[in-house]
Amino acid sequence: MAQIIDGKAVSAAIKEQVRDEIARDGIKAGLAVVIVGNDPASRVYVNNKKKACEFCGIQSFEYALPEETTMQELLELIDTLNNDKNVNGILVQLPLPEQLDEKAVIERISPQKDVDAFHETNVGKIMIGNYSFLPCTPAGCMELIHSTGISVSGKECVVIGRSNIVGKPMAMLLLHENGTVTICHSRTKDLAEVCRRADILVAAVGKPNFVTADMVKEGAVVIDVGINRLENGKLCGDVKFDEVSEKAGWITPVPGGVGPMTIAVLMKNTLTAAKLQK
Ligand code: NAD
Repeated sequence: MAQIIDGKAVSAAIKEQVRDEIARDGIKAGLAVVIVGNDPASRVYVNNKKKACEFCGIQSFEYALPEETTMQELLELIDTLNNDKNVNGILVQLPLPEQLDEKAVIERISPQKDVDAFHETNVGKIMIGNYSFLPCTPAGCMELIHSTGISVSGKECVVIGRSNIVGKPMAMLLLHENGTVTICHSRTKDLAEVCRRADILVAAVGKPNFVTADMVKEGAVVIDVGINRLENGKLCGDVKFDEVSEKAGWITPVPGGVGPMTIAVLMKNTLTAAKLQK
């Protein structure tokens, strides 16, 4: 039976470290969160970020813009925030309504304030291993892997999913720690066979119960990034938890695994931004 990797505990420890450093060194840190429209899931995420800021002693500035916001209005707000000395980090909650060009919006954020690490400059820095900000979700997964005490070095690591937000940067962070990394995606042949090689398996697919026990090596570390809402309203991951937990050595639950880590790393990145901008 797998040991459960407790994302709530690991994320709480990171937030406490951020809070303690801010209090100890009297650091003034501010995070601006921009939300456009009324997506209920985005609303929940933004509220959670606000609560985490309060806990850490980070000032949060919320900008809730109407659904019909134009590109010009949004870019003007970002320019204002880029120039605001009280704002160290800027986060635009995705997805944006259709009329807004997400890529152009992200590129407008000053790379020094891009605490999500989505700007091309920061993506490039992650690629060469010289980064200020780690992408929140993959960095959170790395923290969870570290919490097991298992070293990534020399391990077979398989990442399912190649998105710019999760899959690709996840693979890069595993590579930086000397894992032997394979990235799988919707065109991968013999996916189960590739996954069975993994000492560390990361699922970021967005399909409920996609990873089954026959795809997992005995004793593997299984990190489930997926957040899927079922018809009954319950959340579930990409991994079929009941059967995979019988076989894996370590596993993250959903909820309570990767989810809380993303916000904890965001707090860490905001503190880093504040220190760099001093
Ligand atoms: P995405 O849709 O951009 O990417 C999904 C990836 O899965 C794609 O690269 C695709 O190639 C791959 N894929 C799809 N079908 C496949 C198949 N049959 N076989 C192999 N690969 C297949 O999604 P994303 O933004 O990377 O998010 C993935 C999941 O992680 C979602 O459930 C999302 O909600 C969740 N997520 C969680 C957090 C968090 O904080 N925990 C953060 C971001 C995303």
